[in-house]
Amino acid sequence: MRIGAPKEIHDGEARVAMTPASARDLQKLGHDCLIETGAGVAAGFTDAAYEAAGVTIVPDAETLWAEAEIVTKVRPPLDEELGRLREGQTLISFFYPGQNAESLGRAKDAGATVIAMDMVPRISRAQKMDALSSMANIAGYRAVIEAGGSFGRFFTGQVTAAGKVPPARVLVIGAGVAGLAAIGTATSLGAVTLAFDVRPEVAEQIESMGAEFVYLDFEDSQDSSATGGYAAPSSPEFREKQLAKFRELAPDIDIVISTALIPGRDAPVLWTADMVEAMKPGSVIVDLAAERGGNCELTVADEKVVSDNGVTIIGYTDFPSRMATQSSTLYATNIRHMLTDLTPAKDGVVVHDMEDDVIRGATATHEGEITYPPPKPKTA
Ligand code: NAD
Repeated sequence: MRIGAPKEIHDGEARVAMTPASARDLQKLGHDCLIETGAGVAAGFTDAAYEAAGVTIVPDAETLWAEAEIVTKVRPPLDEELGRLREGQTLISFFYPGQNAESLGRAKDAGATVIAMDMVPRISRAQKMDALSSMANIAGYRAVIEAGGSFGRFFTGQVTAAGKVPPARVLVIGAGVAGLAAIGTATSLGAVTLAFDVRPEVAEQIESMGAEFVYLDFEDSQDSSATGGYAAPSSPEFREKQLAKFRELAPDIDIVISTALIPGRDAPVLWTADMVEAMKPGSVIVDLAAERGGNCELTVADEKVVSDNGVTIIGYTDFPSRMATQSSTLYATNIRHMLTDLTPAKDGVVVHDMEDDVIRGATATHEGEITYPPPKPKTA
């Protein structure tokens, strides 16, 4: 099959879905690779590097979409890209079919197949293709680095000839993939790290990473209403306890990294304006939930703002794109693993096995039929 990667056209997006290394692996599966000229430059991959890896460079997006039988992308397709999808073609990219009904309809009408990387089931066998986790890991790391760029002190405590410096105190709210990456990064930089999650089962993971789990004085310990490894909305009583705890912590926290999300809902507001006001000037909040409304009441999506009392609040929504070399490398590897499963005989022939839980789960349209939402997976 001819597998291509166009240049991402979403404003400011620096990632690319194919790297020279992933292209080499795709060719070992019997495929031919194409890339639009300049598609990898913002992520650090030149046309020359692709050419050296055996990739054909095509002059523009139109040619790429016309020649590729499988198009691999990062961002969900925009209008112009949907207009290029054609019968028999397969698109592999983030797609969010639950939120993009119109795009789903257009892919169906075009007679195309869409594999949505955000729909890869989160089961052990599929971890190598779990692009949401790859990107969340990068976002968590970058959130701490970004916080450091706006924070006027060290993370680590030091005893120097010029005086004793206390360590920064970091609070991570939400200990999913991004939160755990943030905890790992903050502790490795020497910060005293506290972390909170509504799912009590993460306490052990948090503590094993050298952070302190924030327990609430609540009869049910933490909120046990979570299902399938994901959080559910908290009860009003639980939420009150949580906010009271955060209010108590706020004056002594230097950096908040918030990552709390509930599938299919707006982000819960957990860091209110009065908590920001209670923080010391120079403190920093990085709100990884900004795209879904934000965990902090004062977050402005895609902006860095400073509150009246001198607290910096970062609401960027493009952390993985800010580390485009790393994120493209991991994302392209996730895609390559998907294509490995789609090419069982390694002979360049794609077998779209709808009996395979992982392939079925990620398939949003199949040969012009809408196949979203998928049935519940049989294996774990
Ligand atoms: P997410 O991005 O949906 O949410 C981030 C975190 O916010 C979650 O840990 C959630 O519990 C927490 N949260 C929600 N409401 C909160 C509140 N009010 N206060 C504090 N925290 C709150 O999560 P994710 O990173 O996508 O991971 C979700 C789950 O999926 C985890 O259990 C993770 O281990 C699991 N997972 C499994 C696999 C796999 O098996 N392949 C891969 C990735 C993730």
